[in-house]
Amino acid sequence: MSISGVLDRLSFTDGACTVHTCDGHSQRFDTMYPVLGCTPSTGFLAALQPSRDENGQLIPDAAMETSVPGLFAAGDVVVGLNQISVAVGQAAIAATRIHHRLPCNLRGAAVATAPSFR
Ligand SMILES: Cc1cc2nc3c(=O)[nH]c(=O)nc-3n(C[C@H](O)[C@H](O)[C@H](O)COP(=O)(O)OP(=O)(O)OC[C@H]3O[C@@H](n4cnc5c(N)ncnc54)[C@H](O)[C@@H]3O)c2cc1C
Repeated sequence: MSISGVLDRLSFTDGACTVHTCDGHSQRFDTMYPVLGCTPSTGFLAALQPSRDENGQLIPDAAMETSVPGLFAAGDVVVGLNQISVAVGQAAIAATRIHHRLPCNLRGAAVATAPSFR
């Protein structure tokens, strides 16, 4: 069962949770599970026009690169499960792709020929 209406408060008695809505109704539950989801702050990327779903969440490829080359994303800002472990894993995947895309051996003799990052 789901609840509609604006939440006023929750009360906990006898091992159960009672949801009170602003319209004066209340409903008692044995178990509560909040709905996952968020509204991502991706509006500032509008000029780049990365692929996003109807909720504004970015749609990256398997390496967490968005449809804009060089723009990587991880965590709640991309489509998928909003969990800390997922965000960390996605960040590691993105970092790995970025690492392999960078020139090798920046500390060695190749420095002189490495491209400028300015
Ligand atoms: C109430 C609640 C409970 C949760 N419980 C769990 C749990 O038990 N276990 C679990 O795994 N996950 C849980 N989550 C989900 C988890 O918090 C997220 O999946 C995780 O934090 C995502 O990390 P993130 O770095 O992508 O985003 P965030 O942690 O949200 O970090 C994004 C950061 O970017 C900042 N920001 C946003 N817009 C801008 C901008 N324009 N400029 C600069 N900074 C900006 C924000 O202020 C924020 O600091 C919970 C979430 C909520 C809301």
